Amino acid sequence: MTANDEIDTGRPHPARVYDYWLNGHSHYEADAAAAERVVQVWPGVVMGARLNREFMHRATRWLVREAGVRQFLDIGTGIPTEPNLHQVAQAIAPETRVVYADNDPIVLHQAQKLLTGSPEGRTAYLHADFTEPRSILEAPALRETLDLGRPVALSLIALLHFITDERGAYEIVRTLMDALPSGSFLVVSHATADFDPDLLTRVAEAYQSTVAEGQIRSSSEVNRFFEGLELVDPGVVVAHRWRPDGDVQPDITDAEFPVYGGVARKP
Ligand code: SAH
Repeated sequence: MTANDEIDTGRPHPARVYDYWLNGHSHYEADAAAAERVVQVWPGVVMGARLNREFMHRATRWLVREAGVRQFLDIGTGIPTEPNLHQVAQAIAPETRVVYADNDPIVLHQAQKLLTGSPEGRTAYLHADFTEPRSILEAPALRETLDLGRPVALSLIALLHFITDERGAYEIVRTLMDALPSGSFLVVSHATADFDPDLLTRVAEAYQSTVAEGQIRSSSEVNRFFEGLELVDPGVVVAHRWRPDGDVQPDITDAEFPVYGGVARKP
């Protein structure tokens, strides 16, 4: 382990703050305090974290069941929270292969929980930074797990709002998608201020001043991530309206869950 892999409990980290909202057990005092500051401004964040997970479940099920995807690259995985992506996918197709990546040491320390897949499939974990896409693509663990000659779904769930334009968010997504063959998919969920700008300004202030920098994006800015790809119906929509099934409460307004979700296919 290097200094980069050590867990710094003194200041809040995105993965642990999110774990607090999800009612998990992998956070410290600093994380809970930061998470609570956001709850004060936006009580709906707790429901939002759950709805975001449910979008990941639905998108993954659709990709495996309807699109026949059997390989996933999930970057910004977060602290293991059951069911994780591989469990959702392998429940339908046990042979599915999943590579997870995150840059937070706490996820690395718990990665074993992400590696307990079905015997027919395979999972791997990379301690890696999204802003260094080449090192992700060239990692031996990725090459041993995924066949980049066959379609892969790149899953970026609640990750891109941490990556500003300045840090190259669009270029990095392009680099990753360029490395994947035709028939691959891009899955994104992303916070937006389109429905309640005042609220999101206050949330961003509370969050970005203590936890991490980021960039909230509009509908057209989120759509830009999908340029050159074919959006799957219904396109980029508030994530709980993306192909809702039994587990979605229909009465939640867009302003209550200001997160876009979308899935697109590489032609
Ligand atoms: N995808 C999960 C977790 C979202 S929280 C879910 O939606 O349930 C965002 C995650 O992105 C955190 O785990 C954080 O550590 C990770 N993250 C933020 N910036 C990152 C970066 N530059 N590289 C890799 N992971 C990053």
